[in-house]
Amino acid sequence: MFKHSIITITLALLVALAAGCGSAVTTTPMPPAATSAPPTNTPIPPTAEPSLTGPPTTETGASSNTWLQRDLSTDEAVVWYLGHCGYAIRTQNHFLIFDYQEKHDGRDAKPRPAQPSLENGFIVPDEIENLRVRVFVTHEHADHFDPVIFEWKDQVPDIAYYFGWRAADDPSFHYLVGPRAELRSGDLEIYTINSHHSGVPEVAYLVKVDGLVIYHNGDYRGEYEEDYPFLRRLAGRIDLTFAFRDFDERNRYFEQNIDLFQRFDHRAIFPMHDSAEKGLYAEFERVYLSKLPGLPIFCPQKIGERFLFRDGHIIREGESATNMPEPIQVTEGTTQTRFIDGTVMVCVPAGDLLPADCCP
Ligand SMILES: [Zn+2]
Ligand SMILES: [Zn+2]
Repeated sequence: MFKHSIITITLALLVALAAGCGSAVTTTPMPPAATSAPPTNTPIPPTAEPSLTGPPTTETGASSNTWLQRDLSTDEAVVWYLGHCGYAIRTQNHFLIFDYQEKHDGRDAKPRPAQPSLENGFIVPDEIENLRVRVFVTHEHADHFDPVIFEWKDQVPDIAYYFGWRAADDPSFHYLVGPRAELRSGDLEIYTINSHHSGVPEVAYLVKVDGLVIYHNGDYRGEYEEDYPFLRRLAGRIDLTFAFRDFDERNRYFEQNIDLFQRFDHRAIFPMHDSAEKGLYAEFERVYLSKLPGLPIFCPQKIGERFLFRDGHIIREGESATNMPEPIQVTEGTTQTRFIDGTVMVCVPAGDLLPADCCP
């Protein structure tokens, strides 16, 4: 049993993650860099950091702006749930958007608020115009692709688009038709695996960016027995996994997810392809945890919900000690985040200094 000291903080604990970005990929010219300087890695004083247990989010966008502007280190990301399969991820130097659309949320219509913003699940160009925006679309079905995304480029100078099919004729877009397309695009490494469903080609994305590895499944349901080992050779660890929400053990999607969850070292898994408020994500969590105890699943409960990824763990805004998931992987030399009385506790391995029991 390892002993640890306890440091109660609301500061970031900065631990660099190994990037593992060495594979040869096709090079494609990128749009010019943003005129504004990329974010720096300067530590932020405690008073400047948004509270993790602060008041509920508002519809003004002010809260999302805070998270859009503060500096992030290479082991940090902010994740927003945008409804259905839509997720936005801010990393140290990029803002990634996957399968964004404004019409569907599960089987329901996506509700449009009076003041759309990231905080209620909508991309507003005013909020992201100074970021390096990278837009990913898995396939052309209307619950994954919305032409509204093309309107952003009129206002966002540093934006790039990636499609899993030949979505348009614009040569500035990136079409990862594959099979198994690979692309180095600026600071991003992008890999796809392919399948077809309902008559259209589609991909799942594996993206390496700013020290993080991200997987977005879209509706991919292909030859995963061959595709996942292919991806596993590219990345053993996936920091942010966005998985199809099927939890019916009779379905191939279930078998596929089990393979995905077992084959990689996952840091945070988010279900998608339903309405967060229907409760099916909780059932997804229950079923997969019954098969694979300790799996780090995080279920959004509403559109616009925000998660902070830091030091290999998700810190969920507003969570209390009573309903925080237990960290699952504790090995010698790693750090571990705990939540006690609503306070972020970080347990730092400290040899024999203290007989602390915070990290069993
Ligand atoms: Zn589809
Ligand atoms: Zn779909």
